[in-house]
Amino acid sequence: MDNRINSNSKNHLIIGGVDATELVKQYQTPLYVMDESAIRHKCQMLIKRFKHPQVNTEVIYAAKAFLTLQMAKLINEEGLSMDVVSGGELYTAIKGEFPPSRIYFHGNNKSHEEIEMAIQNHVGTIVCDNGDEVTRLLKHSWDGRLRIMLRINPGIEAHTHEYIKTTTHDSKFGLSIYDPKTMDLIKTIHDNPRLDFVGFHTHIGSQIFESESFMELARTVLSYIQALKIKHGILTKEMNLGGGFGVRYTQEDTPFSLADFFPKLLNLIVEESKRLNVDIPKVLIEPGRSIVAEAGYTLYTISGTKETFGGKRFVFIDGSMADHIRTALYQATYEAVIANDLKRPLSQDYTVTGKACESGDIIIKNIKLPKPLEGDILAVLSTGAYHYSMSSNYNRLLKPAVIFVSGGKSRVVVQRESYDDLLRHDV
Ligand SMILES: *Cc1c(COP(=O)(O)O)cnc(C)c1O
Repeated sequence: MDNRINSNSKNHLIIGGVDATELVKQYQTPLYVMDESAIRHKCQMLIKRFKHPQVNTEVIYAAKAFLTLQMAKLINEEGLSMDVVSGGELYTAIKGEFPPSRIYFHGNNKSHEEIEMAIQNHVGTIVCDNGDEVTRLLKHSWDGRLRIMLRINPGIEAHTHEYIKTTTHDSKFGLSIYDPKTMDLIKTIHDNPRLDFVGFHTHIGSQIFESESFMELARTVLSYIQALKIKHGILTKEMNLGGGFGVRYTQEDTPFSLADFFPKLLNLIVEESKRLNVDIPKVLIEPGRSIVAEAGYTLYTISGTKETFGGKRFVFIDGSMADHIRTALYQATYEAVIANDLKRPLSQDYTVTGKACESGDIIIKNIKLPKPLEGDILAVLSTGAYHYSMSSNYNRLLKPAVIFVSGGKSRVVVQRESYDDLLRHDV
């Protein structure tokens, strides 16, 4: 059973109660379709389950996964906070009427312009990444005290099925907890009357399938909180454990249940805080992909196939790496179905490729598909995160429209680009 694939009596793919072939008739391809109700259910589950009687908690949406005005509105309606990493994301959030007090401004290299924009808009929290950034921040003026978190690097790195403790700390993000200068910087921030040091931010990786990584992270940050208390008498009010919760791109992916995991994580935090004699901090998480990835589908029209002299079979679609970069960028794996004929039997292995002038323009490598026919609609699954947000105009290809579907209805949240859009800034 795959809850991403629902069908009607015509054996067509249904998304949010709407027949995918009808969406294609109305909006053309390539098309990004997001199941709005699935996104809302994820948000509601997170808010409901990331709770504990003894712990203050907050769920932040990592907007870089997918952000538009309507998405900002949705996240606000569901009561999550938002993390932005650039002036552009901040601008979108503000224009989408997202309450600035619930915005966290991240990023490892904020410009003066971005810092000023955050201050002018009364962004709730600035997450500083390094000492230079704190210095740069202090050149600006504001009233009262500015809430500051510091991104630390806990020496834990998690990817997919494993986590490693690293002893070399060469990440461009955050400051190592093993570097004594980090604690000196915290004291400087803490002692500055213009800054309100609230705590630590961490983010240890993406597409993590090992819940133990987050347990280890919580233990490590709490012992750092204890060390800070002992060394400088500084109390830490908040700790952000980041995002990176794994999602299902293919059947091989086995994400752990967040609903089952959260109570264990929060219990551990309560027990560890008591054991280490530190105040139980407020705990924040900031998932991105786990909120939107599985709710997204990209619909393409198949134009034809090619069998090479060497025996490789290609399926050609009307999109490309410009709207689907993760396969080329990370060798990410995906699954797809023929949206207009879910019952057609599987035939052979194909590589799905697009229109871009790159051999690396691959959407899916070696996937078993039914025999593709011209005009078939190919639906690539789990494309809600880092697809629209990473899309480009390479080869002067047009970015697809983004559609929200829910309860049998669809609406445009981003218009399809036109050729004139491509020329808008050309002089
Ligand atoms: C990317 C990122 C996230 C979200 O990661 P996901 O894998 O999308 O959940 C959260 N926090 C920070 C700091 C990030 O850079």
